[in-house]
Amino acid sequence: MKTKIVLLGPPGSGKGTQGEKLSEEFGYVRMSTGDMLREAVRKGTDLGIKAKGYMDSGALVPNDLIINLMKEKIASLAEGTGIIFDGFPRTVEQADALGEQIDVDLALNLDVDDEELVKRLTMRRSCPQCNAVYHLLYNKPQNERFCDKCGSVLYQRDDDKEDTVRNRLKVYRENTFPLIDYYDKKGKLVTIQGVGDINEIFDKVKKAIQ
Ligand code: AMP
Repeated sequence: MKTKIVLLGPPGSGKGTQGEKLSEEFGYVRMSTGDMLREAVRKGTDLGIKAKGYMDSGALVPNDLIINLMKEKIASLAEGTGIIFDGFPRTVEQADALGEQIDVDLALNLDVDDEELVKRLTMRRSCPQCNAVYHLLYNKPQNERFCDKCGSVLYQRDDDKEDTVRNRLKVYRENTFPLIDYYDKKGKLVTIQGVGDINEIFDKVKKAIQ
């Protein structure tokens, strides 16, 4: 079984959903830089204050902030821990820094087209407490307002509004898309169509991590 997995794919491609399922079923530690940054913003830490403006506009937070954050988090885990990276790396510089610290053994790329992504992101609802994600049509919580897992009130991320979503997709294409080729050249890439039933996609994900 692969133990160091990078989830690639544009915002809204299902990295959070599939990463969460992998961590529930196999015990991987899921490291989402987006979740970490949102928590830092909520708590008003130094990192949160520095990151907020970039996040609000859909831009990337500067590499040095993210690389330092992840270095510390990775170093705090025991050797051999299974890790899923969700939303990191997002630039070649971040991927090089990650490669210096650990050997990535799989980059799983979830492929979804732009119009579908806009539909998904603008109807996404997120849990501020446990970071679960829902969709008001495809992956509905039992009650539209509350998280099924922890009961917290769900919210729409500011950066899931349509204008910011379109900017995030542009930023993805310019900065993160090249990582598909980067990991392909290292022989680590598996691409999965991220459209359709969540459990059917998860079956393909499970095959890829074996
Ligand atoms: P996400 O939840 O992964 O969509 O991330 C939300 C926002 O956090 C992004 O639009 C960026 O502003 C910021 N962010 C998350 N991960 C990274 C990263 N690896 N590098 C730079 N910025 C990031």
